[in-house]
Formats: sequence, C-alpha cells, structure tokens
Amino acid sequence: MSVIQGRCLCGDVTFSCDDDFQQFHLCHCHQCQKLTGSAHVANLFTRPDNITWHSGQAHVTRYNIPGRLSSNAFCPTCGSRLPYLSQTGKALVVPAGCLDDASTLQPQDHIFWAERAAWYDAVVDAPHFERLPER
Ligand SMILES: [Zn+2]
Ligand SMILES: [Zn+2]
Repeated sequence: MSVIQGRCLCGDVTFSCDDDFQQFHLCHCHQCQKLTGSAHVANLFTRPDNITWHSGQAHVTRYNIPGRLSSNAFCPTCGSRLPYLSQTGKALVVPAGCLDDASTLQPQDHIFWAERAAWYDAVVDAPHFERLPER
C-alpha cells in the first residue's frame, strides 16, 4: 500500500497516511461552509491509527462544533485544515486538500446537498483559466 504525505500550507505540520481511505465525502452543510470559507469540505475517512505525525502535532488546534459530532482541526499559523480523530473515535478524518498527492482518490458523493451555497450550481459553468485572468 502506498503512503501519501501531507502538510499544512506553512509546513509546520507534516504527516503521512497509508492510501487506505474508506470514504470520501464532499459536505455542503452550513457549518462546513463557515469553517472553510468556501462551498464544502472534502473529507476522507480512514481507520483511527492511519497517521504518522512527522512534525507540529502539538500545534494542531481543534474545534468541536457545539451540538454536532463534527469538528475541525487546523494549523494555528496558516489556518490549513488538518486531520483529526472523529468525536466517536471510530475514524480519522483527513481533509483531502492537506494531502500532497490525492490523485488516487475520488469523492463518492455530495452530502447535505440541500444546504449547498446558493452560487454553487453555477460553479461547473463558470469559465476556467490557468492563472489569474487579465482584466
Ligand atoms: Zn501551517
Ligand atoms: Zn458538513
């Protein structure tokens, strides 16, 4: 089984996981919009012990969303979302974007679709540019 490296944007926190993910959900709920500042999270789920921290684990800051089983974990320096153990302890949640190479992975579904951002349906049809468009 291959190993996938991960890190936050500033590089303080580094880790690796076996490429052994059982679920991959894009969650559009209101809480996930707030915590990402974007349309949805892209969360992988794996076994609780599938992580080796290489640096910065003690810096990882956790927030448990009141009244929900959801949480967030992030680097306090750069704000990147990072892996965390679910509140039930049954799964490790890994934000796909913190992996250096997630090319072997495919999302299985969109969840909390009814709560999606009002602008999200226009995302697919928006023009694509390789870099900042010239204005
Ligand atoms: Zn960082
Ligand atoms: Zn959500």
